[in-house]
Amino acid sequence: MTQHIKLFTPGPGDVDDDVLDALSLPVMRHYGPDWMPVHVEMDELLHRLFQTKNDMYVVPGPASAVLDMAIGSVVAPGKKIIIGTNGFFGDRLVEISQAHRLEIIPFKAAWGKPLDPNLLESLIKENPDTVAFAMVHHETSTTVLNPLKDLMAVARKAGLVTIVDTVSSLAGVDIPVDDWGIDICVCGANKCIEAAPGIGFISVSPHAWTVIDSHDAPGCWYLDLKLWRHYIQEWGAWHPSPVTLPTNVILAARTAIKKIFERGVEAHYARYATASRSMRKGLTNLGFEMLVPEAYASPIATAVKARPEFTLDELTKWLMDEHQIAIGGGLGELTGKVIRVGHLGKAAEREYMLQFLFSVEEFLRMKKIPVQPGGGVAGMFE
Ligand SMILES: *Cc1c(COP(=O)(O)O)cnc(C)c1O
Repeated sequence: MTQHIKLFTPGPGDVDDDVLDALSLPVMRHYGPDWMPVHVEMDELLHRLFQTKNDMYVVPGPASAVLDMAIGSVVAPGKKIIIGTNGFFGDRLVEISQAHRLEIIPFKAAWGKPLDPNLLESLIKENPDTVAFAMVHHETSTTVLNPLKDLMAVARKAGLVTIVDTVSSLAGVDIPVDDWGIDICVCGANKCIEAAPGIGFISVSPHAWTVIDSHDAPGCWYLDLKLWRHYIQEWGAWHPSPVTLPTNVILAARTAIKKIFERGVEAHYARYATASRSMRKGLTNLGFEMLVPEAYASPIATAVKARPEFTLDELTKWLMDEHQIAIGGGLGELTGKVIRVGHLGKAAEREYMLQFLFSVEEFLRMKKIPVQPGGGVAGMFE
């Protein structure tokens, strides 16, 4: 076995051993009487987790594949989509839409700032022929949590199909998909759901289906939502997916989601909130500055600014070499300017947090930077 590296990256996250256990079970058939009870139970668990009555699909692949599926299935080539972009993953939604040859109306905010619902309202007025609005909820590259509820209200009032990347926020913060009017909600398995990577989840509303059924332009075969609906409708009692499923990965996700409900969803959210608060306080005590003010910072990951006494690469390398701790770097225009610390899975646990804050303090001492003794760890008690 390779040496265990503790993941403080904002994806991937370190997951619990009982979730990993599911990966070593014998391979199952992804259809028939062996699989159908798992399919039915997963469907029920996901509807509860997403707080939705909409159709739900489990799709093998990374979360980005499911974002590709959402955009490519809803909007026909040449049609207009408004895309919120205030970071790396918002830019990815633009790239996906470019690949599908859509007409893109960019809806921008500066990296590190949230999207503004008033600006969305005026963009919709200027572009009354827009079909869909896509955005990222938690922009993992900056750790900004965009005002999802308000943005959905504006887009829904105008009748747009809303497509939301909640890859790094669903199960980390409360997202009532139906109440807030999210037509298509996409999530992955290895962020706040804390399961093994390899599958994505997507919910699709009746309003989205109306628009999908109004054109005849699937971007491809595998990632066409109509294909997945066809298998549920025609083969759903026996073989509910068009392809061989990574059954072990799905079993691991089932364990992880059940654990969320056993802990209680509110307690699961609270765990993130507590971890991020401790991390912000501890790192502030150690003289670091946060990239994002508390008012719109996500509880799922924390971005910390570079400081003059050392480079962030130096700190990142030292944490790995000395303590086998992995943290995230800056993406895109934030490369070299921030580090990002995730609170996913084990990283939100006391032992991990203690070791992290203690180790950062040790690094600062090694650099002969004056620090309040125990100040990092003290953040956990504030
Ligand atoms: C991690 C992440 C993705 C990409 O997920 P993959 O599984 O790597 O495709 C997309 N959007 C956000 C907001 C993310 O945090």
